[in-house]
Amino acid sequence: MLSRAAAIEAIAGQRFEVVVIGGGITGAGVALDAASRGYSVALLERGDYAEGTSSRSSKMIHGGLRYLQNLDLGLVREALLERQLMVQLAPHLVYPTPFLVPAFPEERRQRGLGIGLNMYDVMATTRVGRSRREMRSSKQEDEDFYWSPDRHRMIDRGEVLELVPSLASRDPKNAYLFFDCQTDDVRLTLTILGEAERFGATMLNGAEVVEVLEKGGRAAGVAFLEADSGERIEVEAENVVNATGVFADRIRPEEVVGEEDVPRISPSRGTHVLLDRADLSTGSAACIVPAGEGRAIFALPWYGRTLIGTTDNDFDGDIDHPRPGEEDVAYLLEAVNEFFGTSLGERDLVGAYAGVRPLISTGDPKKSVDISRKAELYETSSGMLTITGGKLTTWRRMAKQTVDRLVEREARVAPCHTAEIPLGMEARPGDLVAPQGVGEEATAQLAFRYGHAARQVLALAHEDARLAAPIVPGRPDLLAEAVVAARHEQARSVADVLLRRTRLGLLAAPQLRDAGVARAVAAAIGAELGWSRRQVKREAEAWPAAAAAAGIDQARADGEGRAG
Ligand SMILES: Cc1cc2nc3c(=O)[nH]c(=O)nc-3n(C[C@H](O)[C@H](O)[C@H](O)COP(=O)(O)OP(=O)(O)OC[C@H]3O[C@@H](n4cnc5c(N)ncnc54)[C@H](O)[C@@H]3O)c2cc1C
Repeated sequence: MLSRAAAIEAIAGQRFEVVVIGGGITGAGVALDAASRGYSVALLERGDYAEGTSSRSSKMIHGGLRYLQNLDLGLVREALLERQLMVQLAPHLVYPTPFLVPAFPEERRQRGLGIGLNMYDVMATTRVGRSRREMRSSKQEDEDFYWSPDRHRMIDRGEVLELVPSLASRDPKNAYLFFDCQTDDVRLTLTILGEAERFGATMLNGAEVVEVLEKGGRAAGVAFLEADSGERIEVEAENVVNATGVFADRIRPEEVVGEEDVPRISPSRGTHVLLDRADLSTGSAACIVPAGEGRAIFALPWYGRTLIGTTDNDFDGDIDHPRPGEEDVAYLLEAVNEFFGTSLGERDLVGAYAGVRPLISTGDPKKSVDISRKAELYETSSGMLTITGGKLTTWRRMAKQTVDRLVEREARVAPCHTAEIPLGMEARPGDLVAPQGVGEEATAQLAFRYGHAARQVLALAHEDARLAAPIVPGRPDLLAEAVVAARHEQARSVADVLLRRTRLGLLAAPQLRDAGVARAVAAAIGAELGWSRRQVKREAEAWPAAAAAAGIDQARADGEGRAG
């Protein structure tokens, strides 16, 4: 990625065919799609890339079994096809995980579940809706191109315990086993941005759009505030795309003819907590955990921790800084304790976070839990397009829908290519040469997180032994990653590195209370960005407030960082 200084120079006062507002996964997808169809593109992100909901998801690339209950068949099918495509396009970053739905002697098996899983299998095939002849001719092609999970099956007690030994005390009878996928949501967003840049898009974070410029009643660009200088900068654009997720109804041209031209967002908060695997491990499988009133949550293995989530409640709090709800944390822990027979409390948490879903309000008085997760595209009379709703999994479809509309209204011939554009480049851990002291866990993590670009991190670690050290003792993230983040990914704060380039804020929050960690990260970034010693100190000191604003450290003894 260009440095911020170079990006400002490339964007300020320039004219683009498309300007995208918002650097979450949707904006990143629109930038990639438009750039790969030949548009000149600038993308502006107010804070840091993926700082909104795209760093706060459950990190699943999935069809969404529970949407089957709402008979949202189109949404599930679409997401399942995207899931297959993502494994193909980003094999280092999107991986299948076995999911278990265990049954216990005292329970009666839910009959609907088997039917639902059968539908899930059928809908995941690329051949649904095709004639036999089409199926025959495309079978080989599909098998060559698409990853496809095994069908679900019932596994016996022995196999359940082999996959999830911590269920032993519950004496499971058997379990349904099916597959879904996991990822690192921020890394997926950054990888898509990286590809967009390869196709010529320019992106800038710390760039808050404050006005949609109009000319003759048409949206003709935007004005943004550059975070470091506070300067107001204008960019001309033939097309303006608003991809600001849960903030989408805040970006409005001066004149909106009909309220139906812009979305009304009805935010819903989802809280997650993370546990040390020594306290609770689901092995390499995920478990679906009943959580009362017919609801269910997940316990997922993620970066060597156990990720528990999520809740789904209407939210009227601060959407700029959503924090885990105290009641939500208690609800998640209670469900997990009951299921695994543990007695874990807030003090056992290694991390926590909350995200806000950009659900589109239909004016329906139903709870958000029942509102569909469909993406919606809006167009104002000024021509500004707003794309919001949807899921992490369906980013590519949302981007395609948006850029198809641009293409259609300009009567261009410019088909979408994103189904064929690899996202990053795969690297196998064994192909990476690590300096002494950097173990297998670190190399495997680097291969997952960066793919081929892991070599950049390792080159720094080879050059300077200090950068080969872990940021937090016992975790595989290297200090060299802070340097790469500042040099190649426009990271500009300790929080950018700890919350989004690495995910240490979610995985090791109590260890980040040690001021030395923030100091080391600030020094590494500062050396890249030319910070004075005073600025390094100031940036390190800003970390505890950033951590508290995100509510990652629920285990903090004094209760700081909790929210209602
Ligand atoms: C708790 C939870 C769990 C989820 N789990 C999953 C899951 O497992 N799988 C799945 O597929 N989906 C999941 N989702 C949904 C998914 O995370 C979201 O649909 C997706 O991340 C939304 O991305 P986005 O780019 O539209 O929005 P965001 O990621 O919020 O991006 C919008 C961006 O716009 C920026 N912005 C706002 N205003 C301005 C401005 N004025 N100028 C410039 N930039 C601006 C923001 O800073 C932000 O970065 C989950 C959502 C939640 C809340």
